[in-house]
Amino acid sequence: MSSESLMDHPAFARTPPWVKAKLRPFAIEKIKQVYEWVETECIPAERIFKAQIKDNRWKNPPIIHELRQKAKAQGLFNLFLPNHFKESPGLTNLEYSCCAEIMGKVYWAPQTMNCHAPETGNIELLAKYCSPEQKKKWLEPLMNGEMSSAYSMTEPDVASSDATNIACSMKITDTEVIINGRKLYANCQYNEDLNIYILMGCSDPENPNPWNRHTTIVVPARTPGLKQVRNLTIMGFDCAPEGHGEYIYDNVRVPKENIILGPGRAFEIAQGRLGPGRIHHCMRLIGQAERAYELALVRCIEPRKKPRGKLIGQFDSNIERIADMRMTIDSMRLVVLNAADTMDYAGNKAGKYAIAQSKILVPNALLKVIDEAMQMYGGQGLTQHTPLPEIWTYARFVRVADGPDAAHRHQVGRDQMKTAQGVRTRFEEYTRKYQELCKKWELEPEEFWGIV
Ligand SMILES: Cc1cc2nc3c(=O)[nH]c(=O)nc-3n(C[C@H](O)[C@H](O)[C@H](O)COP(=O)(O)OP(=O)(O)OC[C@H]3O[C@@H](n4cnc5c(N)ncnc54)[C@H](O)[C@@H]3O)c2cc1C
Repeated sequence: MSSESLMDHPAFARTPPWVKAKLRPFAIEKIKQVYEWVETECIPAERIFKAQIKDNRWKNPPIIHELRQKAKAQGLFNLFLPNHFKESPGLTNLEYSCCAEIMGKVYWAPQTMNCHAPETGNIELLAKYCSPEQKKKWLEPLMNGEMSSAYSMTEPDVASSDATNIACSMKITDTEVIINGRKLYANCQYNEDLNIYILMGCSDPENPNPWNRHTTIVVPARTPGLKQVRNLTIMGFDCAPEGHGEYIYDNVRVPKENIILGPGRAFEIAQGRLGPGRIHHCMRLIGQAERAYELALVRCIEPRKKPRGKLIGQFDSNIERIADMRMTIDSMRLVVLNAADTMDYAGNKAGKYAIAQSKILVPNALLKVIDEAMQMYGGQGLTQHTPLPEIWTYARFVRVADGPDAAHRHQVGRDQMKTAQGVRTRFEEYTRKYQELCKKWELEPEEFWGIV
C-alpha cells in the first residue's frame, strides 16, 4: 500500500503535503493510533476526569491511572523522545508534532501517554546528562510511568527569564548539598504522585563567570525542609491535580550524588533543554485551537441559537470569522512543524530561530482564535458550559511558560541586528555597480540621500 493511501485517515486531514512526504510507515501507524486513542478514550472521558477530581483535587484521578496503564500497553508511552536517543520509541520531532497536536485536543491526554510537561523536558534532560546510575534511579522509572517529576527554576525575587539571576542558595559539602531559597510554579507537592524536583540553584555566587555559578540537582519531593506554602492559581484555575506550587527551601539536605552533570554546569544543561521541549506546548496548542474551532463550527449551526431569526453561521461576519480562524490555525501549524523539522534536519541549536518564532507567534495568534470562538458562544463561552476558558488560559500561559515571548523576541531581534552590516555591504555593492553602469551608459549617477 502506498504511503499516501495509508494516510487516508482523519488523523491526516490537516497534515500539509510536505509533512506527509516525510512520514515513515511506522510513524503513520503511531499517529493513527494516537488519533484513535484521543477520540475514543480521552474526549468522551473529559467529564469523568472532572467528576473524579471534584472532591479530591490533589490526587491523580482513577481514570488517569487506568488510561496510563492501557496507553503503555499499547506502545503509546514517551513518543516525544526524539529518535536520536537510545531510549526513544523512534519518532522524529516532526512525526511527534503530528501526534502532539492530536494529544493537545484534551488538556490531560498527553499525561495518559507520558508526554506531558514538565515530564517531557525532564526526561530529555535526564536522558542527555545523567550517569548510568542516575538513569536507573530516575530516568527508567519516569519513562515507565512509575515516577513523576517537576522542574523548579523560577523564583519570586528575581527576573527568572534571565536564568543567571537564579539565587536559591546551594552549599556543596563533601557529602551533601544544602539548599535554601524560594521557588515558584513547579508542580504541586500536594499531589502524592509527585516524586522528584529537578532544581536549579546557585552554588558558586562569587565565580567571575556567571555561566558557571549554577548547579542542577534532583530533590526528592518529601525531603525535610522543603515546604509548599500554597498552590498558585493560574488565571483563577487551580490546575488540579498537577497544580503549580510556591515553595520554601529551608536547609534542605540532598546527597551530593544527586547533582546532574557536575557542580556549576547548570547552564550546559539549560542549553540542552532548549530543544523540542520548548515547543511541545505550541504543538499541543494547535490541537486545543482545533477544538475551539470545532466548537465554533458547531455553534454556527446550533438550531436553538437564532438571533434575528438566523443561525449564527448565517451572518457574513461569522462566515469571515470562521475563515480567519481556519487560516490562522493552518498557518500556525506550519510554523510549529517547520520548527520541529528544522531540529530534525539541522539540530536543536540551528533550530533556535524557528523555536523562538513558534514560541512568539503561535500562542499570540491562537489566543485570538480561541477568543473568537468564545465570542460566538456569547456568555456561555466564558463559563464552564464550554472548555473555552481553560483553552484560552492554556494559550495565555504559553506566552510566559518556558520563557516569556518578549525574551524570545529580544533574542530574535538581537540576532537579526547582527545581519545588518552584511545587508549594508550588499547595498554598497549595488551602488558601486550602478555607478559602473552609469559610466557604461553615459548617465550622470543620481544622489540618494540616506541610501548607501
Ligand atoms: C502556568 C505556568 C507554569 C510554569 N511552570 C514552571 C515550571 O514548571 N517550572 C519553573 O521553573 N517555572 C515555571 N513557570 C515560570 C515561567 O517559566 C516564568 O514565569 C518565565 O520564565 C518568566 O520568568 P519571570 O516570571 O521571573 O518573569 P521575568 O523574568 O521577571 O519577566 C517578566 C517580564 O519582563 C519582560 N522581559 C523579560 N525579559 C525581557 C527581554 N529580554 N526583553 C524584553 N522584555 C523582557 C517581559 O515583559 C516579561 O514577560 C511557569 C509559569 C506559568 C505561568
